[in-house]
Amino acid sequence: MAKANPVVGIIGGGQLGSMLATAAKKLNIKTVILSDDPEAPAKNFCDEIIITDYNKLKKIDDFINKVDFVTFEFENIPFNILEYISKHKPVCPKPSINQTVQNRFKEKEFVKSEGIKTTNYVLIKNKSDLLNNDALLPGFLKSCTLGYDGKGQYMVNNKDEVEDLVIDFKKEYILEKKINLKKEISIIITRFVNNDCLVYEPIENLHINQMLNKSIIPAIIDKNISNQAQQQAKFLAEKLDYIGTMCVEYFIDENNNLLLNEIAPRVHNSGHLTINAYNISQFENHIRAVCNIEKIQLKKNHNAEMINIIGEDIKTFRGKSYSENEFFFDYLKKEIKEKRKMGHLTVIKS
Ligand code: ADP
Ligand code: MG
Repeated sequence: MAKANPVVGIIGGGQLGSMLATAAKKLNIKTVILSDDPEAPAKNFCDEIIITDYNKLKKIDDFINKVDFVTFEFENIPFNILEYISKHKPVCPKPSINQTVQNRFKEKEFVKSEGIKTTNYVLIKNKSDLLNNDALLPGFLKSCTLGYDGKGQYMVNNKDEVEDLVIDFKKEYILEKKINLKKEISIIITRFVNNDCLVYEPIENLHINQMLNKSIIPAIIDKNISNQAQQQAKFLAEKLDYIGTMCVEYFIDENNNLLLNEIAPRVHNSGHLTINAYNISQFENHIRAVCNIEKIQLKKNHNAEMINIIGEDIKTFRGKSYSENEFFFDYLKKEIKEKRKMGHLTVIKS
């Protein structure tokens, strides 16, 4: 077991960093955030923040010297920086996992090689690749790296639309066949050293314009799908030798096939309801796993529904009063932007 009150370094200063810092505080663990954003909202929740470009080694060294363990709240940190940090302090999950999962093509190849069903996809480097793969239309064209909340994604219905596409082919993409979705679910899992796992029950997710709108437990799905999703998430966490909390997103198609959509090597938006619905949240479990402190059995206290608050809507929510079943989280982002996640509301049920 690690020392009683370690200091955790968190790379990334968005709302996930804020919620990790809040969870750490509950455990009496100090947090130092490393962010390239002077307005990083996590500065309101952590003990210390270092603002720097991720390639300034002097500042990275300061960060390393202040912390005992390192983790991250977003997966697009340059791999060489994560590697550098991991030579000095333990980084969880380990950087090589990030390298696989931050590239949609590599991620899908990995999932497929492990015998897990995913969508039909192909690597796309130019327009003729698209035209030659019209069997996958209608489909989603997604940039291999740096996409999130539907950013870097294009719905392509037919060959005519391929002609009209204006996209940057300096980047690589995957084209993924459009699934007729019955449901979307996610599994949040925390894996500790010694291969001990805690798996939350499946969460049902509703998206609007490819962005998460609502997450609900319980997910109304067949028991066998629920078991299969949890088992696959556990299998992948073991396979990756993952330490910390991760999320596996799934599609359930119209024929009740479970298809893995993507793996997020971090705490996840769909797991925010665990803060109010469970004895231990995804964030606290992440900190516990990363710092190698005691694992406590999970207990669900409530069913729950979480809704994301996007852009200007935050103003309405800021002005409301809430009942004891409603938990409003304001991410305290300085600037309100369209399509920006500004907060969330979780409502607990019986
Ligand atoms: P992101 O990294 O932005 O979350 P995803 O690949 O998870 O990207 O896509 C975001 C959402 O877009 C999905 O949750 C789903 O609602 C929709 N979507 C993406 N790919 C497909 C697909 N192949 N078929 C149907 N819907 C899709
Ligand atoms: Mg997604």
